[in-house]
Amino acid sequence: MWCSVFLISSFITEQKEKLTEVEQQLKKAEAAQRRRMQVEKANRENEAEAIRKILGQDSGREKRKAQNKKRREAMAQVEKAANALMLASSTIRWVMGPTGTVVTFPKDMGLPSIFESKPCSYPPPRENCAGPSCSNPYKYRDSKSKLPLCSLQCYKAVQEKLQAETTC
Ligand SMILES: [Zn+2]
Repeated sequence: MWCSVFLISSFITEQKEKLTEVEQQLKKAEAAQRRRMQVEKANRENEAEAIRKILGQDSGREKRKAQNKKRREAMAQVEKAANALMLASSTIRWVMGPTGTVVTFPKDMGLPSIFESKPCSYPPPRENCAGPSCSNPYKYRDSKSKLPLCSLQCYKAVQEKLQAETTC
């Protein structure tokens, strides 16, 4: 009887021990699960944070990219304008107005040779002899009549002509 009691008690304690063992294991497992979940949660949060960071950086990069693009576009526009200006300054402008046609040439291009104003200081064509039926260029000028003459012959001829005219 005693023995059986012991056995029973032993069985009970064994059972109890087993139970507590199971309970402990369960508790451990539960704790482990909870820890795992916590770790997972933390991991997920970390991941999300990392993703947010990456996205944030990405969006920042995108922003910078956009800014760079904007800057490049602005630069391109400035360049374009400069080019247009240069093009305009290197083109000939032909403006037909009521007062006449104005042609504008860029300074760096210069005037085409056809528009170059020829110096007006060309020596006037040398007068020919005033002698009748004489086409020689004059050599002398008669101090009285201021007529161009090439020779004494022509002088005489002119004098005779003048006298003939005055006598008439
Ligand atoms: Zn002459």
